[in-house]
Amino acid sequence: MKILADYHTHTIYSHGKGTIEDNVKVAISKGIETLGISDHSYGHLTYGVKRDDIFKMREEIDILNEKYKNKIKILLGVESNILDDKGNIDYDDKIGDVLDYVMAGYHFGSKPTNVKALINHANNYVFKTEKAKEYNTLGIINAMKNNNIFVITHPGDKGDIYIEEVAKVAKETNTKLEINSSHRFLNANQLRQIEHIGNTFIVGSDAHVPKNVGNFNLALNTIKEAKIDLSLIENIKF
Ligand SMILES: [Zn+2]
Ligand SMILES: [Zn+2]
Repeated sequence: MKILADYHTHTIYSHGKGTIEDNVKVAISKGIETLGISDHSYGHLTYGVKRDDIFKMREEIDILNEKYKNKIKILLGVESNILDDKGNIDYDDKIGDVLDYVMAGYHFGSKPTNVKALINHANNYVFKTEKAKEYNTLGIINAMKNNNIFVITHPGDKGDIYIEEVAKVAKETNTKLEINSSHRFLNANQLRQIEHIGNTFIVGSDAHVPKNVGNFNLALNTIKEAKIDLSLIENIKF
């Protein structure tokens, strides 16, 4: 198996343990062609990146691309938070100017945009209600419709969703769904449920320590279990 890209890695700019260059070195040692740095965006209360740091990260990555130019390509992304059912995410055009791509996912620690969004966190965290499942589904769908999102990270993690509805809009908007290798989402069940829709997928390590960059073990087990067509996964080659 050849890893063409790992787009989902974290660094000390959010709550990862390594620097950007630490991730780059591991990626090179594993023969990865493209590495994406995608720290949590600034709307996360505890481990979001400082907004100003995104511009610093751009400069750092430009320098590293020069330094390692014959070995790897490094991209700057972000893992934005899906903030509410309107699909608002912590993203703005200014940071968009320096980013290579945007991923988005739902996380408990994101700053609620209103009371309903706050209640939804509680419904997901404690009560796991049907209402929350509807709210989460709408949030992802509207996020894909209203923003140019490359990948939805760990769909269904931390808050249940109607996966078929999400997958249909992902297909319409050409958004990839992630098979995350740190969280069990997408899982084999979800993959089987949406098989007929014809989505394309990205595997992400979601590495929070450098050594896990390109560690796709959990995701590969999921893929095997679901028996999906391997050509639908865009960032690995068998
Ligand atoms: Zn995440
Ligand atoms: Zn992540």
